[in-house]
Amino acid sequence: MNFIEDYPFSELSSLRTTETASFFCELSDINQIDEIISFSNEKNLPILIIGEGTNIVPTKTFQGLVVFNKLLGIKEIDKMTIEVASGENWHDFVEWTLRHKMFGLENLALIPGTVGAGPIQNIGAYGSEISSFIKKITCFDLKTGSIKVLYANECGFGYRTSIFKDCSDYIILSVTFQFKTDPKINYSYGSLEDEIYNNNINEDNLTHGDIFDLVSKIRKKALPDYKEFPNVGSFFKNVVLTKEEFSKLDITEEIPVYLEGDDIKISAAFLIEKFGWKGYREGNVGISDQHALVLVTYEETPGDEILKFANKIINQIFSMTGIKLEIEPTLI
Ligand SMILES: Cc1cc2nc3c(=O)[nH]c(=O)nc-3n(C[C@H](O)[C@H](O)[C@H](O)COP(=O)(O)OP(=O)(O)OC[C@H]3O[C@@H](n4cnc5c(N)ncnc54)[C@H](O)[C@@H]3O)c2cc1C
Repeated sequence: MNFIEDYPFSELSSLRTTETASFFCELSDINQIDEIISFSNEKNLPILIIGEGTNIVPTKTFQGLVVFNKLLGIKEIDKMTIEVASGENWHDFVEWTLRHKMFGLENLALIPGTVGAGPIQNIGAYGSEISSFIKKITCFDLKTGSIKVLYANECGFGYRTSIFKDCSDYIILSVTFQFKTDPKINYSYGSLEDEIYNNNINEDNLTHGDIFDLVSKIRKKALPDYKEFPNVGSFFKNVVLTKEEFSKLDITEEIPVYLEGDDIKISAAFLIEKFGWKGYREGNVGISDQHALVLVTYEETPGDEILKFANKIINQIFSMTGIKLEIEPTLI
Protein backbone atom coordinates (compact mmCIF):
# COMPACT_ATOMS: atom_id res chain seq x y z
CA MET A 1 0.00 0.00 0.00
CA ASN A 2 1.04 3.56 -0.61
CA PHE A 3 1.18 5.78 2.51
CA ILE A 4 1.69 9.41 1.48
CA GLU A 5 3.17 11.88 3.96
CA ASP A 6 1.92 15.41 4.63
CA TYR A 7 -1.27 15.25 2.58
CA PRO A 8 -3.33 18.46 1.95
CA PHE A 9 -6.96 18.46 3.13
CA SER A 10 -7.77 20.85 0.25
CA GLU A 11 -7.70 17.69 -1.91
CA LEU A 12 -10.01 15.83 0.47
CA SER A 13 -12.54 18.28 1.82
CA SER A 14 -15.26 20.24 0.02
CA LEU A 15 -14.58 23.27 2.25
CA ARG A 16 -10.94 23.62 1.03
CA THR A 17 -8.92 24.41 4.11
CA THR A 18 -5.13 24.84 4.30
CA GLU A 19 -4.61 22.02 6.86
CA THR A 20 -2.73 18.80 6.19
CA ALA A 21 -2.76 15.22 7.49
CA SER A 22 0.51 13.53 8.55
CA PHE A 23 -0.28 10.50 6.37
CA PHE A 24 -2.84 9.45 3.77
CA CYS A 25 -3.78 6.17 2.12
CA GLU A 26 -6.66 4.66 0.14
CA LEU A 27 -8.78 1.70 1.22
CA SER A 28 -10.20 -0.26 -1.71
CA ASP A 29 -10.27 -3.77 -0.23
CA ILE A 30 -11.10 -4.82 3.34
CA ASN A 31 -8.03 -7.07 3.31
CA GLN A 32 -5.92 -3.89 3.41
CA ILE A 33 -7.18 -3.04 6.90
CA ASP A 34 -4.49 -5.16 8.64
CA GLU A 35 -1.73 -3.25 6.86
CA ILE A 36 -3.38 0.08 7.69
CA ILE A 37 -3.59 -0.85 11.37
CA SER A 38 0.04 -2.08 11.46
CA PHE A 39 1.18 1.20 9.91
CA SER A 40 -0.83 3.32 12.36
CA ASN A 41 0.41 1.25 15.35
CA GLU A 42 4.02 1.44 14.18
CA LYS A 43 3.84 5.24 13.91
CA ASN A 44 1.46 5.60 16.86
CA LEU A 45 -1.08 7.52 14.77
CA PRO A 46 -4.88 7.63 15.07
CA ILE A 47 -6.91 6.61 12.02
CA LEU A 48 -9.52 8.85 10.41
CA ILE A 49 -11.67 7.25 7.73
CA ILE A 50 -13.23 9.70 5.30
CA GLY A 51 -15.42 9.54 2.22
CA GLU A 52 -15.84 12.51 -0.11
CA GLY A 53 -15.02 15.06 2.61
CA THR A 54 -18.31 16.95 2.28
CA ASN A 55 -19.02 17.02 6.01
CA ILE A 56 -15.64 17.62 7.63
CA VAL A 57 -13.92 20.79 8.78
CA PRO A 58 -10.18 20.33 9.27
CA THR A 59 -9.26 22.88 11.96
CA LYS A 60 -5.60 21.99 12.56
CA THR A 61 -2.91 19.62 11.29
CA PHE A 62 -4.27 16.09 11.71
CA GLN A 63 -1.49 14.14 13.40
CA GLY A 64 -2.73 10.83 12.10
CA LEU A 65 -3.49 8.63 9.12
CA VAL A 66 -6.38 9.67 6.87
CA VAL A 67 -7.91 6.67 5.12
CA PHE A 68 -9.83 7.55 1.95
CA ASN A 69 -12.70 5.14 1.43
CA LYS A 70 -12.88 3.47 -1.97
CA LEU A 71 -14.76 0.30 -0.96
CA LEU A 72 -17.19 -0.42 -3.78
CA GLY A 73 -19.96 -2.89 -4.59
CA ILE A 74 -23.74 -3.35 -4.39
CA LYS A 75 -25.09 -6.77 -3.40
CA GLU A 76 -28.74 -7.90 -3.54
CA ILE A 77 -29.43 -10.00 -0.43
CA ASP A 78 -33.04 -10.51 -1.50
CA LYS A 79 -35.62 -8.57 -3.54
CA MET A 80 -35.94 -5.79 -0.96
CA THR A 81 -32.65 -6.03 0.98
CA ILE A 82 -29.47 -4.52 -0.43
CA GLU A 83 -25.97 -4.41 1.04
CA VAL A 84 -23.90 -1.48 -0.21
CA ALA A 85 -20.16 -1.02 0.25
CA SER A 86 -19.47 2.16 2.18
CA GLY A 87 -17.39 3.93 -0.48
CA GLU A 88 -20.18 3.97 -3.06
CA ASN A 89 -21.45 7.45 -3.97
CA TRP A 90 -24.74 8.18 -2.20
CA HIS A 91 -26.60 9.91 -5.05
CA ASP A 92 -25.56 7.22 -7.55
CA PHE A 93 -26.96 4.61 -5.16
CA VAL A 94 -30.26 6.54 -4.83
CA GLU A 95 -30.53 6.51 -8.65
CA TRP A 96 -29.72 2.77 -8.63
CA THR A 97 -32.58 2.07 -6.18
CA LEU A 98 -35.09 3.87 -8.38
CA ARG A 99 -33.89 1.98 -11.48
CA HIS A 100 -34.41 -1.26 -9.51
CA LYS A 101 -37.90 -0.24 -8.29
CA MET A 102 -36.91 0.15 -4.65
CA PHE A 103 -38.42 3.32 -3.31
CA GLY A 104 -38.10 5.70 -0.37
CA LEU A 105 -34.63 7.21 -0.78
CA GLU A 106 -35.76 9.67 -3.47
CA ASN A 107 -36.23 12.50 -0.91
CA LEU A 108 -32.49 12.18 -0.17
CA ALA A 109 -31.39 12.69 -3.79
CA LEU A 110 -28.32 14.83 -4.48
CA ILE A 111 -26.91 14.72 -0.96
CA PRO A 112 -23.16 14.65 -1.64
CA GLY A 113 -20.87 12.02 -0.13
CA THR A 114 -20.55 8.29 0.34
CA VAL A 115 -23.04 5.66 1.49
CA GLY A 116 -20.86 4.86 4.53
CA ALA A 117 -20.93 8.44 5.81
CA GLY A 118 -24.73 8.58 5.58
CA PRO A 119 -25.39 6.92 8.96
CA ILE A 120 -22.77 9.05 10.77
CA GLN A 121 -25.05 12.06 11.06
CA ASN A 122 -28.17 10.21 9.91
CA ILE A 123 -28.40 12.25 6.72
CA GLY A 124 -31.79 13.76 6.12
CA ALA A 125 -33.63 16.10 3.81
CA TYR A 126 -37.13 16.94 2.58
CA GLY A 127 -38.91 15.05 5.33
CA SER A 128 -36.85 11.86 5.22
CA GLU A 129 -33.83 10.31 6.97
CA ILE A 130 -31.51 7.48 5.95
CA SER A 131 -32.12 5.66 9.27
CA SER A 132 -35.67 4.73 8.23
CA PHE A 133 -34.21 2.45 5.55
CA ILE A 134 -31.24 0.93 7.36
CA LYS A 135 -31.42 -2.67 8.51
CA LYS A 136 -27.83 -3.10 9.74
CA ILE A 137 -24.36 -1.68 9.49
CA THR A 138 -21.20 -3.77 9.20
CA CYS A 139 -18.15 -2.12 10.75
CA PHE A 140 -14.56 -2.84 11.50
CA ASP A 141 -14.11 -2.16 15.22
CA LEU A 142 -10.67 -0.56 15.61
CA LYS A 143 -10.70 -1.18 19.38
CA THR A 144 -11.16 -4.96 19.16
CA GLY A 145 -9.70 -5.49 15.68
CA SER A 146 -12.79 -7.43 14.57
CA ILE A 147 -15.88 -7.07 12.41
CA LYS A 148 -19.03 -5.93 14.25
CA VAL A 149 -22.61 -5.83 12.99
CA LEU A 150 -24.93 -3.20 14.44
CA TYR A 151 -28.68 -3.32 13.81
CA ALA A 152 -30.50 -0.01 13.27
CA ASN A 153 -31.90 0.03 16.81
CA GLU A 154 -28.33 -0.16 18.19
CA CYS A 155 -27.09 2.85 16.22
CA GLY A 156 -28.59 5.66 18.35
CA PHE A 157 -30.05 7.47 15.35
CA GLY A 158 -31.48 10.92 16.01
CA TYR A 159 -31.65 14.32 14.32
CA ARG A 160 -28.25 14.61 12.53
CA THR A 161 -26.68 12.17 14.96
CA SER A 162 -25.87 8.54 15.76
CA ILE A 163 -23.46 6.61 17.97
CA PHE A 164 -20.87 7.03 15.18
CA LYS A 165 -20.96 10.84 15.18
CA ASP A 166 -18.36 11.62 17.85
CA CYS A 167 -16.64 8.26 17.89
CA SER A 168 -13.73 7.15 15.74
CA ASP A 169 -13.74 3.49 16.85
CA TYR A 170 -15.53 2.16 13.77
CA ILE A 171 -14.81 1.96 10.07
CA ILE A 172 -18.19 1.42 8.42
CA LEU A 173 -17.63 -1.21 5.73
CA SER A 174 -21.16 -1.61 4.40
CA VAL A 175 -24.73 -0.52 5.00
CA THR A 176 -27.64 -2.93 4.48
CA PHE A 177 -30.89 -1.26 3.40
CA GLN A 178 -34.37 -2.72 3.83
CA PHE A 179 -36.99 -1.42 1.41
CA LYS A 180 -40.76 -1.64 1.86
CA THR A 181 -43.03 -3.60 -0.43
CA ASP A 182 -45.71 -0.86 -0.14
CA PRO A 183 -43.65 2.36 -0.13
CA LYS A 184 -45.51 5.63 0.40
CA ILE A 185 -44.73 8.78 -1.53
CA ASN A 186 -43.54 11.41 0.96
CA TYR A 187 -44.23 14.99 -0.10
CA SER A 188 -45.24 16.50 3.23
CA TYR A 189 -42.17 18.75 3.48
CA GLY A 190 -43.08 22.43 2.98
CA SER A 191 -40.85 23.39 0.04
CA LEU A 192 -41.63 20.11 -1.73
CA GLU A 193 -45.37 20.75 -1.38
CA ASP A 194 -44.86 24.31 -2.66
CA GLU A 195 -42.94 23.06 -5.71
CA ILE A 196 -45.75 20.59 -6.50
CA TYR A 197 -48.38 23.32 -6.12
CA ASN A 198 -46.43 25.94 -8.14
CA ASN A 199 -45.95 23.48 -11.00
CA ASN A 200 -49.65 22.52 -11.04
CA ILE A 201 -48.73 18.86 -10.51
CA ASN A 202 -51.60 16.55 -9.66
CA GLU A 203 -50.66 14.90 -6.33
CA ASP A 204 -52.68 11.79 -7.20
CA ASN A 205 -50.39 11.02 -10.14
CA LEU A 206 -47.07 11.64 -8.36
CA THR A 207 -44.43 8.93 -8.69
CA HIS A 208 -41.27 8.25 -6.65
CA GLY A 209 -39.32 9.34 -9.74
CA ASP A 210 -41.18 12.69 -9.73
CA ILE A 211 -40.12 13.24 -6.11
CA PHE A 212 -36.50 12.49 -7.10
CA ASP A 213 -36.73 15.07 -9.93
CA LEU A 214 -38.47 17.70 -7.77
CA VAL A 215 -36.01 17.32 -4.88
CA SER A 216 -33.08 17.55 -7.33
CA LYS A 217 -34.58 20.68 -8.87
CA ILE A 218 -35.18 22.38 -5.50
CA ARG A 219 -31.68 21.52 -4.25
CA LYS A 220 -30.02 22.92 -7.38
CA LYS A 221 -31.93 26.19 -6.90
CA ALA A 222 -31.53 26.46 -3.12
CA LEU A 223 -27.95 25.37 -2.44
CA PRO A 224 -24.66 26.83 -3.70
CA ASP A 225 -22.59 24.33 -5.71
CA TYR A 226 -19.76 23.27 -3.41
CA LYS A 227 -17.36 22.92 -6.34
CA GLU A 228 -17.78 26.64 -7.10
CA PHE A 229 -18.38 27.92 -3.54
CA PRO A 230 -16.62 25.50 -1.18
CA ASN A 231 -19.01 24.45 1.61
CA VAL A 232 -20.21 21.47 3.65
CA GLY A 233 -23.97 22.00 3.23
CA SER A 234 -25.66 23.10 6.46
CA PHE A 235 -22.99 24.36 8.83
CA PHE A 236 -25.46 24.72 11.71
CA LYS A 237 -28.15 22.36 13.00
CA ASN A 238 -31.72 23.43 13.63
CA VAL A 239 -32.33 23.79 17.36
CA VAL A 240 -34.52 21.20 19.07
CA LEU A 241 -35.61 22.02 22.64
CA THR A 242 -37.99 20.43 25.10
CA LYS A 243 -41.01 22.55 25.99
CA GLU A 244 -39.46 23.14 29.41
CA GLU A 245 -36.15 24.32 27.92
CA PHE A 246 -38.05 26.56 25.53
CA SER A 247 -40.16 28.10 28.31
CA LYS A 248 -36.98 29.14 30.14
CA LEU A 249 -35.77 31.25 27.20
CA ASP A 250 -36.20 34.98 27.58
CA ILE A 251 -36.96 35.76 23.94
CA THR A 252 -38.05 39.26 23.10
CA GLU A 253 -37.82 38.73 19.33
CA GLU A 254 -40.50 37.20 17.06
CA ILE A 255 -39.20 33.73 16.30
CA PRO A 256 -41.32 31.12 14.51
CA VAL A 257 -41.28 27.68 16.13
CA TYR A 258 -42.41 24.25 14.92
CA LEU A 259 -43.68 21.33 16.93
CA GLU A 260 -41.70 18.12 16.40
CA GLY A 261 -43.29 15.35 18.45
CA ASP A 262 -43.11 16.65 22.02
CA ASP A 263 -40.25 19.01 21.21
CA ILE A 264 -39.95 22.47 19.76
CA LYS A 265 -37.85 23.08 16.67
CA ILE A 266 -36.37 26.46 15.84
CA SER A 267 -35.01 27.17 12.36
CA ALA A 268 -31.30 28.01 12.53
CA ALA A 269 -31.56 29.56 9.04
CA PHE A 270 -34.22 31.98 10.32
CA LEU A 271 -32.00 33.12 13.22
CA ILE A 272 -28.91 33.54 11.02
CA GLU A 273 -30.85 35.59 8.50
CA LYS A 274 -32.67 37.62 11.14
CA PHE A 275 -29.40 38.73 12.74
CA GLY A 276 -27.91 39.84 9.44
CA TRP A 277 -25.40 37.07 8.66
CA LYS A 278 -26.85 35.83 5.36
CA GLY A 279 -24.57 37.01 2.55
CA TYR A 280 -22.08 38.51 5.06
CA ARG A 281 -18.37 37.96 4.33
CA GLU A 282 -15.36 38.42 6.57
CA GLY A 283 -12.00 37.83 4.84
CA ASN A 284 -12.18 34.49 3.08
CA VAL A 285 -15.17 33.14 5.01
CA GLY A 286 -18.83 34.04 4.81
CA ILE A 287 -22.44 32.92 4.82
CA SER A 288 -23.86 32.18 1.40
CA ASP A 289 -26.31 34.76 0.04
CA GLN A 290 -28.27 31.79 -1.38
CA HIS A 291 -28.82 29.87 1.88
CA ALA A 292 -28.37 31.10 5.45
CA LEU A 293 -27.20 27.72 6.82
CA VAL A 294 -24.35 27.40 4.35
CA LEU A 295 -20.94 28.74 5.36
CA VAL A 296 -18.67 29.23 2.33
CA THR A 297 -14.98 29.91 1.80
CA TYR A 298 -13.69 32.11 -1.01
CA GLU A 299 -10.02 31.02 -0.99
CA GLU A 300 -8.19 28.18 0.73
CA THR A 301 -8.64 29.14 4.38
CA PRO A 302 -7.15 27.98 7.70
CA GLY A 303 -9.77 25.94 9.55
CA ASP A 304 -9.41 28.00 12.72
CA GLU A 305 -10.54 31.11 10.78
CA ILE A 306 -13.67 29.22 9.76
CA LEU A 307 -14.28 28.19 13.34
CA LYS A 308 -13.73 31.73 14.65
CA PHE A 309 -16.29 33.06 12.16
CA ALA A 310 -18.82 30.34 13.05
CA ASN A 311 -18.34 31.02 16.78
CA LYS A 312 -18.98 34.73 16.22
CA ILE A 313 -22.38 33.84 14.78
CA ILE A 314 -23.13 31.35 17.57
CA ASN A 315 -22.15 33.84 20.31
CA GLN A 316 -24.09 36.76 18.82
CA ILE A 317 -27.29 34.75 18.40
CA PHE A 318 -26.87 33.34 21.91
CA SER A 319 -26.47 36.82 23.41
CA MET A 320 -29.59 38.06 21.58
CA THR A 321 -31.86 35.05 22.17
CA GLY A 322 -30.34 32.58 24.65
CA ILE A 323 -30.47 30.00 21.84
CA LYS A 324 -27.20 28.17 21.21
CA LEU A 325 -26.63 26.99 17.65
CA GLU A 326 -24.61 23.82 17.18
CA ILE A 327 -22.14 23.10 14.38
CA GLU A 328 -23.30 20.20 12.17
CA PRO A 329 -20.14 18.90 10.36
CA THR A 330 -17.36 16.93 12.05
CA LEU A 331 -14.51 19.16 13.28
CA ILE A 332 -11.11 17.57 12.82
C1 LIG B 1 -23.81 21.03 -0.86
C2 LIG B 1 -24.01 20.08 0.28
C3 LIG B 1 -25.31 19.71 0.64
C4 LIG B 1 -25.52 18.83 1.70
N1 LIG B 1 -26.81 18.49 2.01
C5 LIG B 1 -27.04 17.66 3.05
C6 LIG B 1 -28.38 17.31 3.38
O1 LIG B 1 -29.34 17.70 2.74
N2 LIG B 1 -28.57 16.49 4.45
C7 LIG B 1 -27.53 16.00 5.19
O2 LIG B 1 -27.78 15.27 6.15
N3 LIG B 1 -26.24 16.30 4.86
C8 LIG B 1 -25.98 17.12 3.82
N4 LIG B 1 -24.69 17.45 3.51
C9 LIG B 1 -23.58 16.90 4.30
C10 LIG B 1 -22.89 15.67 3.65
O3 LIG B 1 -23.24 15.55 2.31
C11 LIG B 1 -23.27 14.38 4.36
O4 LIG B 1 -22.99 14.46 5.72
C12 LIG B 1 -22.54 13.16 3.76
O5 LIG B 1 -23.04 11.99 4.35
C13 LIG B 1 -21.04 13.23 3.93
O6 LIG B 1 -20.44 12.19 3.17
P1 LIG B 1 -18.90 12.15 2.92
O7 LIG B 1 -18.58 10.86 2.27
O8 LIG B 1 -18.46 13.36 2.20
O9 LIG B 1 -18.33 12.15 4.42
P2 LIG B 1 -17.02 12.83 4.97
O10 LIG B 1 -17.17 14.31 4.97
O11 LIG B 1 -15.84 12.26 4.28
O12 LIG B 1 -17.03 12.33 6.48
C14 LIG B 1 -17.99 12.83 7.39
C15 LIG B 1 -17.82 12.12 8.74
O13 LIG B 1 -18.12 10.74 8.58
C16 LIG B 1 -17.01 9.93 8.97
N5 LIG B 1 -16.99 8.80 8.01
C17 LIG B 1 -17.01 8.88 6.66
N6 LIG B 1 -17.02 7.65 6.13
C18 LIG B 1 -16.97 6.77 7.17
C19 LIG B 1 -16.93 5.34 7.26
N7 LIG B 1 -16.96 4.57 6.19
N8 LIG B 1 -16.86 4.80 8.50
C20 LIG B 1 -16.86 5.56 9.63
N9 LIG B 1 -16.89 6.91 9.58
C21 LIG B 1 -16.95 7.52 8.38
C22 LIG B 1 -15.79 10.84 8.83
O14 LIG B 1 -14.73 10.41 9.67
C23 LIG B 1 -16.38 12.17 9.27
O15 LIG B 1 -16.47 12.23 10.68
C24 LIG B 1 -24.42 18.32 2.43
C25 LIG B 1 -23.12 18.68 2.05
C26 LIG B 1 -22.91 19.55 0.99
C27 LIG B 1 -21.51 19.92 0.59
